Parts: sequence; C-alpha cells; structure tokens
Amino acid sequence: MALHPSPARWWQSEGGRCVRCRLCLRQCLIAPGKRGFCGVRENRDGSLYTLVYGYPAALQNDPIEKKPLYHFLPGTRVFSLGTLGCNLGCVFCQNNTLSATSPEEEMPLRFFSPEELVRLALREGCRSVAYTYNEPTVFAEYAFDTALAARRAGLKNVLVTNGFISHEAAAELFPLIDAANVDMKGFSEDFYRSMCRASLAPVLETIRFFHTLPGKHLELTNLVIPGKNDAPELIDAYLDWAGENLGFEVPLHFSAYHPAYKFRSAPPTPPALLKAIGRHARERGFRYIHLGNIPDPDF
Ligand code: SF4
Repeated sequence: MALHPSPARWWQSEGGRCVRCRLCLRQCLIAPGKRGFCGVRENRDGSLYTLVYGYPAALQNDPIEKKPLYHFLPGTRVFSLGTLGCNLGCVFCQNNTLSATSPEEEMPLRFFSPEELVRLALREGCRSVAYTYNEPTVFAEYAFDTALAARRAGLKNVLVTNGFISHEAAAELFPLIDAANVDMKGFSEDFYRSMCRASLAPVLETIRFFHTLPGKHLELTNLVIPGKNDAPELIDAYLDWAGENLGFEVPLHFSAYHPAYKFRSAPPTPPALLKAIGRHARERGFRYIHLGNIPDPDF
C-alpha cells in the first residue's frame, strides 16, 4: 500500500536538495529521501511532504471534558481526530501507539477530506472539532484546513498540544483555534531535555502567545510523575509562572501518570500526591484546579 504524501507548508530549501522544516521548534534539516524527527514529514526530491494529511489514525466523538477542557462549552461533544507521529520524544508517552507509529505500520488508512470531517462532526451533533491524541503540530496543514472548514460551518476548534510549535506556524494556526489545552510536561529544562528531548522555555512562550490572542480559551495540563517532576519547588515555580503570566483564573489540570512506553520505573502517581498538589494550588489562589486519571478526583 503506497503512502499518499501532500505538499507541506512551513519549510525552505537549504541547497543540495536538503530542506529545513520550519513547522516546529526542532527545525529539522532533512536530506533527500529522509524524514524529520516526527517521522511524518519527508523530503522527496528536494520538496517537503506531509505523510498524514487526510489520514486520521483516530476519530472519535468525545465529551469536551475528556480533552481535558472543563470551562469551554461544558457538557458538549467534540469530534476528535489525531494522526500518527510526534515532534517530542517523551519516554513516558501515554499515547505511543499513535505518536511512535510510522504511517507504513498503520496502512491502509482511509482518506477523510476536511469537509468530510466537518460533515461527520455535524452529523454526530458535536459543537467543536479537536486536534488531539497525537501532537497536532505534526499534522498542522490538515488541522489548518479542517479548522477553516469547521469555522465556516459554525463549529469551534480545539487544540490539545505540547506547545512545541514554531512561532511562524502558530501565528497562522492559532487564530483559527478557539480553545487549547497545552501540556506543560514538567517545570524544568532538565526534565524536558532528559525525558522529552525538548526544552521548556519555548513551550512557555507558546502558552503566553496563545493567551495574548483575543477571545481564546486556555487550560493547562501537567502529568505528574513521582520522583521526576513532582518536587514541591518545581510545582511552586510552575504556579509562580502561571500566576504571573496567565493569572489565577486559568484552569490548571494535574493528572496521574501510569507506567507506559519506555519509562516504567516510577510508580503510578498516588492519588494522595495529586490531591496534595491540587490543594496547594488552590491555597496559592488558583480558582480552577482539576485532577485527572484517578478514580475519585474530588479533593
Ligand atoms: S514538524 Fe517534524 S520534520 Fe518538522 S521540524 Fe518538527 S519534528 Fe522536524
């Protein structure tokens, strides 16, 4: 089964038929016949192509709270789609069947045009479309065209992202997005470097940028991994940053980790730890704190 690549946006020629992908902050330099870090953008004869445009690997009608978004169209359904590939290398990935799978491994996938997705979303009674499951940055062309079609049909657009997107691409995509949940994986450059092969500072810039755009709804999620990103000083530094840059009305989610993918050496996050973090964040003045991935999230 052949792949069906589509011309990519956000790239430039670098000479010798190499291309520089400018979609995410990795800015991969890709030789002819090779793919970027995400595994779904390929240099074919000196031009960059996306291998996932039109080929969702997951399509689902979800409650909006599952994104998680608790303060945007509550009680409604969101038509959710994801593809394959990811631009981060999180060893603890909770969704690696999509993020770390190559298009060849999942063949054949059926083609869905943006207009067809929107028709399906309307037929399912959804109020919004979400770009989620794997990192939507790696299917930004598809997300962009679908978001445009969704907006024209009166649907809202939701982005669930790691925030590791170039400013250039974000400046084009974000105006079409109504609500975002950004995953802040751990408030330390060490954590991002050693656990995600990425860095924290540009993610914070993305969050701030989205927050400054008029009329957007933002929520943040932090997956808490015992012994890795749960140190009280890291949590406090995160809360300091969020309070100063986003204010105390921004909903913050803390969710439980379960051993997965390449990182199984930490125990599942104890609910008591998550609740203690939640109580602390509330005491620090944050109005909306939500806990996820535990049986009883009240605290
Ligand atoms: S989107 Fe993919 S190919 Fe492009 S810079 Fe990021 S990881 Fe590299």
